[in-house]
Parts: sequence; structure tokens; C-alpha cells
Amino acid sequence: MIDSHAHLIYDSFDSDRLEVIERAKNIGVSAFIHPCVHTKDLPQMLALQKELPWANIFLAAGIHPCKSLLYEDNCAVEIEKVASSNQIIAIGETGLDYFHKDCPVEIQKKVFGLQCDLAIKFNLPLIIHCREAFEDTLQILRGKNPPAGGVMHCFTGTAEYSAKFWELGFYTSFAGCLTYKNSKELQKAAQEIPLERILIETDCPFLAPQAHRGKRNESSFIKDIALFLANLKEISFELLDEKTMENTKKLFRV
Ligand SMILES: [Zn+2]
Repeated sequence: MIDSHAHLIYDSFDSDRLEVIERAKNIGVSAFIHPCVHTKDLPQMLALQKELPWANIFLAAGIHPCKSLLYEDNCAVEIEKVASSNQIIAIGETGLDYFHKDCPVEIQKKVFGLQCDLAIKFNLPLIIHCREAFEDTLQILRGKNPPAGGVMHCFTGTAEYSAKFWELGFYTSFAGCLTYKNSKELQKAAQEIPLERILIETDCPFLAPQAHRGKRNESSFIKDIALFLANLKEISFELLDEKTMENTKKLFRV
């Protein structure tokens, strides 16, 4: 398995980060994709990657939509720096979030658009956070048409939206919320979405799957998500693992 979205530098892992990563390794997580919510986190992300080369931590650089107000010109400079030195494999996480009302829509759109331009410039895939903003996200991506595509992380939309994003080269990634008892719509979508389009992730430390709900999430819990999804799709865990790994490697070229 590959945890395609893990925030390993967060404070909540400060007391046991190494154990958390080792636990994931021990249950078969071969690599981690580490998104970036603000470029100020990059030094810590790069240090973690360097400290644990055996963990296979691959990095992205970007500004989370809820942090768009904290965007400044220097952020783009920082992203360009790590992109041009091949230190990152994706741009993100970026996108639009209309659920949390902490940043005006126009600013989010501007910062998202800028990051699409960087993805185009460096031919890198995008990690997209999209909450209650599917139409506007589609519209921006259609306008920009980034050539390396990307992933709709922690997907909460319908199979129809997944298909529309797929037309633009965007995979659909399922996180712990898929396993929640009240996620019937999302579970139905997951049944319909072809395996060729699917990635899995924890989005840790957030959104722990059902069995751990309300607690800190960690990468080893990805097995809960994989097993749940395999069961939903009535396929073996092995097939799901093989295909999602293949999709992740293809998208991020790792
Ligand atoms: Zn995230």
C-alpha cells in the first residue's frame, strides 16, 4: 500500500513519529506522499525525508485553500525552488474549500490558479482539496488543463464528478470518511468508480476511519480503508492493493 496523503510533520506526531511510521511500514505501507499546507512547512518536510530515507516519503509543495490568505509572492518562489531541484513530486495541496468559511472565494481561486500554473510550468501532478466546490474546481481545471493531471484527495463527491475529473486526468482518492456509517452516498460512488481511477490515503492525522473515529489518525490505519473499499467493490484486498499502488506510482511517477 501507499498512503497517498499523509501529514507526517504535524505536532500530533511529535511524541511518536518514528513509531507511527514504523507501524505503517510493518503492516505493508511501502511509501508515503506528504502534501504541504503552506510552504513554511517545507524545511521540516525535507528534514523528515532526509532523516528517514528507508520510509520512502515523497513530498509535494503548495498552499491549502484554507491558508490562501497566508499566500505571498515568496510562496511561489519557494515552490519553484523545490520543483526545479526535483525535491517534490506534486503541487499541493491546493484547491477550493467552501465548507470552512475562513477564506474569501476569490482569493482561494486566485491562489489555486497560481498553483495550477506552477503545475503546468513544471509538468507536475496536482493534489486537490475540494470541499463543497466541485463546479468551480472543475471550471478552473478545465480552463487551465494541467498536463500531468492529479488527484482529488479525500474525495466526497459523486461517481459523475469523479468521471468529469478523470476526463481531465484526475484520479479519485478515498480516505477514512468512506468508512463512516453515514457515508452511504460516498460508498455508492466508490462502488461505481472504476478501480483504474482510485487511490487510497489516510489524510492523517485527520479523519480516522470508523474503528478509530474521533482519535488521531495514522498511516497504518490505511489498511482499514483498503479492506473496506475492497469489500465494497467485492474484490480481493490483493487486487485493490495492486491496482491502487499501480495508479499511485503512475500518477506521481514514483
Ligand atoms: Zn491534507
